[in-house]
Amino acid sequence: MNAPVSALRSYLEDICGSAYVSSDPEVLYTYGSDQTLHLHFPFDLLVKPGNPEEISKILQYCNRHNIAVVPRGGGSGVAGAALPVKGGVVLSLERLNRILGIYNVDGYVIAEAGVVTADLCKAVEQQGLYLPVAPSSMSFSFVGGNVATNAGSIRSCRYGTTAQQVMNLEVVLPDGRIIWTGANVRKNATGVNPTQLFVGSEGTLGVITKVVYRLIPRPRTEVMLLAGFCCLEDALGMVMALKAAELSPTATELICENALQLTAAYLKERQPLVQDGINTHLLIEFQEPDQVIMDHRLDAVSAILQQHRCVDVLVATTATEKERVSKLRYAIGEAMNSFGTTYRDVDACVPLSGLQQYIETVTAICNRHQVPLICFGHALDGNPHAMLLLSNKATQAELAALAAAADEIYGYVTTHGGVVSGEHGIGWLQQQYLPLQFDENRLSLTRQIKSMLDPGNIMNPGKAAL
Ligand SMILES: Cc1cc2nc3c(=O)[nH]c(=O)nc-3n(C[C@H](O)[C@H](O)[C@H](O)COP(=O)(O)OP(=O)(O)OC[C@H]3O[C@@H](n4cnc5c(N)ncnc54)[C@H](O)[C@@H]3O)c2cc1C
Repeated sequence: MNAPVSALRSYLEDICGSAYVSSDPEVLYTYGSDQTLHLHFPFDLLVKPGNPEEISKILQYCNRHNIAVVPRGGGSGVAGAALPVKGGVVLSLERLNRILGIYNVDGYVIAEAGVVTADLCKAVEQQGLYLPVAPSSMSFSFVGGNVATNAGSIRSCRYGTTAQQVMNLEVVLPDGRIIWTGANVRKNATGVNPTQLFVGSEGTLGVITKVVYRLIPRPRTEVMLLAGFCCLEDALGMVMALKAAELSPTATELICENALQLTAAYLKERQPLVQDGINTHLLIEFQEPDQVIMDHRLDAVSAILQQHRCVDVLVATTATEKERVSKLRYAIGEAMNSFGTTYRDVDACVPLSGLQQYIETVTAICNRHQVPLICFGHALDGNPHAMLLLSNKATQAELAALAAAADEIYGYVTTHGGVVSGEHGIGWLQQQYLPLQFDENRLSLTRQIKSMLDPGNIMNPGKAAL
């Protein structure tokens, strides 16, 4: 260990206690990776502070000594945002894991940034309230990580992404100042509000330490429908009809033929509606305040399903039935990591009117480059995930083919009104594509904000094109 690192270590141990500072190679290996491909980066020290004041002192020290700091939540990111690509310190939020209060009348919850997302949702529901921030990774992602990536979920088509739920944040700025960005009230016109500046900032502007989310009443009824179609066109026709009828489902998950086949093979036991004559699924969900509204929705959706040549449909109302009809959808991630493969995530978002053309274009690009494609996800948001499968033993030629396919896909997206990322962020993997979406004026504005808040560029350097 060189002198500056040993000095850093003693400083961190003085601040947080030696039990919360580590340079153990096995521990560092784990924290040097996230869920992005098989990427891993070495770094010097892992620190687990216990409160914002300790984080403030750490950032002041790192600022003085120009040491890179990477905030880390659950490490579930798929864009490489939490990878310590410039070494330095990984600052884990895992000890800031308390739910500080659920306020029923005022309709909000305050949680520390290291609370596991699913734990927060469960605690809120026990109070008869609802927090619609539910990424599929919610059993291991953190609340702060969701804010820092502006996470979406299968339910974003009705409730929006994390950005729509955040009221207020406590943030430790790179120079150590601790601020609240907003206020815990429903309306706030008190001058410039920097809350959204930190939503999606991917650890580049400061460390989020507390999150205030607005809450809604818990829906009293929830029904899932699994609909099978003979082709993509019919399934997407159904999605457009749902939109036109303003039925406002809470989920419309598309499962294309490639995703269906791979996951059905992975799960082995026979899955519902995996049968001849069906090659595309739509998993549709409704959450409503009462049964009368739900019945109205189901009557309307049943008529539209018939008009759109739905081959068969299953209706799930109990927890067991819902688990059965959604099992295949939730196993797609595991399936892609089986068979000696992993995946390069492309989560571009396109205008709904261009969704079918986007999926057909991505398919044609992948076919041409001979890159296996798995396509599934948030249809009504125009945010299907195009996963480019990669063998764990990929050759240079296969890697080059994948990169060429990704380049073409992002080129198409950004010239057809879409964005590079709908919910997974820019991180390390996608930064080269930002200039396709933004002109120099827009890029330089972000750089100016970054250099104003973090002139030493210590916060998560080498990310998000900053
Ligand atoms: C199986 C699977 C399913 C997924 N499903 C979804 C999904 O449905 N929707 C979705 O949007 N994403 C999904 N993701 C991606 C990922 O889970 C999300 O991006 C999630 O929000 C990341 O949270 P995290 O706590 O794991 O953050 P990390 O991966 O630890 O970090 C992500 C970024 O946030 C920064 N960060 C973390 N905590 C803080 C903090 N307190 N202050 C400042 N910066 C911070 C990090 O520096 C990094 O830049 C999925 C991933 C997997 C592996």
